[in-house]
Amino acid sequence: MTDRLYYADSYLKEFEGRVLEVRDGAVRLDRTAFYPTSGGQPFDTGTLNGLAVTDVYADGAGEVWHRVEGLLSPGDRVAGAIDWARRFDHMQQHAGQHILSAAFQQALEAQTVSFHLGPETSTIDLDRQDLSIEALAEVEELANRVIMEGRAIEVAQYDEAAIQSVSLRKPPQVEGLIRVVSVPGFDYSACGGTHPRSCGEVGLVHIERWETHQGQARVTFLCGLRALRDYRRKSWIARGLASRCSVALEDLPAALDRLEAAADEARRQATRLRAQLLEWQVPALAAEATQVGEWRVVCRFLQETEAAEMRQLATQIVQAPGMVAVLGVERPSPQFCLARSADVALDMAALAAELAGPYGGRGGGRPHMAQGGGLPREGLIAMLQDAQERLAPSDEATQCKE
Ligand SMILES: [Zn+2]
Repeated sequence: MTDRLYYADSYLKEFEGRVLEVRDGAVRLDRTAFYPTSGGQPFDTGTLNGLAVTDVYADGAGEVWHRVEGLLSPGDRVAGAIDWARRFDHMQQHAGQHILSAAFQQALEAQTVSFHLGPETSTIDLDRQDLSIEALAEVEELANRVIMEGRAIEVAQYDEAAIQSVSLRKPPQVEGLIRVVSVPGFDYSACGGTHPRSCGEVGLVHIERWETHQGQARVTFLCGLRALRDYRRKSWIARGLASRCSVALEDLPAALDRLEAAADEARRQATRLRAQLLEWQVPALAAEATQVGEWRVVCRFLQETEAAEMRQLATQIVQAPGMVAVLGVERPSPQFCLARSADVALDMAALAAELAGPYGGRGGGRPHMAQGGGLPREGLIAMLQDAQERLAPSDEATQCKE
C-alpha cells in the first residue's frame, strides 16, 4: 500500500518516489506526501517532476492515486512537491475544526455529525439546532483560548485493545490500527488528516454564521488567514458604511433605521403626488384631444409615466362619452394602452393586435380596453402615429404628440 508520508510528517513539502502503476491518467507511487481527499479535507495540489497534480484520491484498497497533467510511466523516479500554502491552510482549518468541535461538545454537549472543508469557508453539522448568539460566542471563545494557550497537537496510533483507554470524541469509523489526533486534555479524535504541531498555528477560529435544518445546525467557520481576511474585509466594509452615513461604527444600525424611515416616507409622498398628478393629467389630456366626427381622440407618448399609471389615465379619460385614448409609455418597458368610452363602437382588442403586429409587438384585451408591448421604443412611437392616422384620418389631424 502507498506509504503516506504525511502521516509521520505533515510538514513534508518535497519527497522522492517511484511510479508503480499508471491507470486512466492517474499515477500510483510507492510513497507520497500528497494528501488524498478524505475525512472532509480536500486533496493537495503540487507537482510530480514538474507536472501539475490536479487531483489526488484513495481507492478502496487504500492506494493513493495522483492525476497528473502529463505523461509518467511505471518505473519513473519522481520528485514531488506539494503546494504548501494550500496544504497549510487546510491544516489550519482541519485542526481548527477539531478544536471547535471539542468546544461545542464541552460547552453545549453538541456533537459534530460531519465536517466539510471548502475553498472559502468550512462547515460542521451539529446534532442539535437550539443555538443562540451567546452560546456560539462562548464556544468561539473557548476554542480561541485553547488556540492561544498554544497547546500541542499530538498524533499517535492505537490498536483495538489500546484504543479502549482513549476517550475519543466520536467512535472510530475504521478498524485495525487507529490514528488519533489529540490536543492532550482537551480533544481526542480518530483522524487521518494533516494537522499542525501546535494549536497556536491555527491562529484564530471564527464562527461566521449558522443555519438550522431538520434538528441539526450547520456552523460555518474560518481559521487562520481566512479568519483574519474575513475580519479585515468586514471591518473595512463596516467602516466604509459608517463613513458614508457620517456616523461612528456603533451608530450604524440607528443610522440605517433613520434611512429606512426616510425612504418609507419618500415612497408614501411619491404615491400621494402621483395620485394628485393623475387628477391634473386627465383633464389636460382630454383638452388636447382631436375631434373626429363625434369622437375625440387622445394620442400621446408619455415619457415620464409608468405603465400602471398609463392604464389609470386611459381608464379615467374614457369615463367621459365619445373619448378614444391611445397612450404609450417606455417605463418599465415600451407598452401601450387603447381605451374607448362605452358609446364608441370600436374593438380596441382587435385594433391593438393590428397596430402592434407590424412593429413586432403584441396586443390584446377587451373591446373597450386593450394593451400591448414587446416592441422597441421607436416602434412604439411609430405605432402611435399609425393609430392617430387611422383613428383621426382628416388632413387637419395633429401628429401623435411626443
Ligand atoms: Zn480530523
